[in-house]
Amino acid sequence: GHALGDHLLKLVADRLKSVLRETDTAARLGGDEFLLLLEGLQHREQAEVVVHKIIRSFSEPFMVKASEVYTSASIGISTFPDDGNSVELLMQYADTAMYYAKKDRSRHYRFFSHELRAYIDEQLAIENRLRHAIRNKELAVFYQPKIDTATEQIVGAEALIRWQNKDLGLVPPTIFIPVAEKYGLIEEIGSYVIEEACKEAGCWREMTNSDIQLAINISPRQFRSSGFLQTIDRALENSGLAGSSLEIEITENLLMQDTHEPLEILNELLDREITLSLDDFGTGYSSLSYLKQFPLQVLKIDRSFINDMMENHYNKALVDAIIAMAQILDIKLVAEGVETMEQFEFLKSRNVEVVQGYLFSPALPAEQFREYIDMVQAG
Ligand code: C2E
Ligand code: MG
Ligand code: MG
Repeated sequence: GHALGDHLLKLVADRLKSVLRETDTAARLGGDEFLLLLEGLQHREQAEVVVHKIIRSFSEPFMVKASEVYTSASIGISTFPDDGNSVELLMQYADTAMYYAKKDRSRHYRFFSHELRAYIDEQLAIENRLRHAIRNKELAVFYQPKIDTATEQIVGAEALIRWQNKDLGLVPPTIFIPVAEKYGLIEEIGSYVIEEACKEAGCWREMTNSDIQLAINISPRQFRSSGFLQTIDRALENSGLAGSSLEIEITENLLMQDTHEPLEILNELLDREITLSLDDFGTGYSSLSYLKQFPLQVLKIDRSFINDMMENHYNKALVDAIIAMAQILDIKLVAEGVETMEQFEFLKSRNVEVVQGYLFSPALPAEQFREYIDMVQAG
């Protein structure tokens, strides 16, 4: 909750101050990020000493309103003048180093390095080209069918973006979506997907009499952006699509990392009868509390579990547990990444309503997806 979170942040600030010298500066950048400025150091090792003190100070729990809270810190370090000589660069490099420290669970801190610089250069190259991708018509939306396990009919389609660049080749969304998030391009790209996909789904409606629900992935920053709901409304209006024909896929980290209340936006979407689903379930915290706390109607079991569940008993048990839990909470299930008949049969026997995966079809270009609809409908 917010009150406890604020309290914890104050305690963290006190603890950070307790390991610093009078001449050092500590500041909170926002959210759960702090910046420490250590002046007048002669060697990197001196920064390391401070880092170890911080890490040690975090090994004790924080007392927040009579409960013990354990937390940890991920620390990124950049040095002046070795790494750069502007505030912007040094902050950006420290941020990158922190991002890596966070990703690597075995370490708490990381210095900025040459490899990280190469990584940033690569990201910048992607960012540069991504800026022009929409105008150059390099982006396309593909559609992957979602199949009802009982009838084997198409009940929905997930819009998945593709980017073909002449220098970089086919860049997977797992690479460029995070770049778009980081460099503020996600709103534009996300809006493009929403508009394009709704328009296409409007056509499915005209060419068939069936109701194919369109699912769109929304990343955290896009979800939070001020124009998000307007974009949705505009796309629904322009395409003539009903809100009930639209599904929004979000991930757990959106619910987690958001500092302002995502509940309001979710409720706005619900008011429009849009379905809300939680993507990649099982990979993050897989917290039951989110399912109770937020009005979610669909859980998508991550493909990494489906992938080897027939061989991996542990994953099979997890899938079973997720299914049981969703059924108790009355949440609809979608299994993604279904590749074999065996997986399909198993999921069907467990009453998982909807599946998606290469067994039926990969994501297809708009034109081919229409043909696919025709084919399935013709039986
Ligand atoms: P996701 O939302 O979990 O999408 C499912 C991913 O699984 C897609 O990868 C899809 O092509 C892949 N997939 C589907 N069936 C199978 C299968 O049977 N086996 C295997 N191995 N994979 C399968 P894709 O298209 O590369 O997208 C990756 C991720 O990028 C998506 O994961 C989603 O998080 C993100 N993404 C894609 N399009 C968009 C978009 O328009 N906006 C946002 N914000 N994110 C997007
Ligand atoms: Mg998805
Ligand atoms: Mg997924």
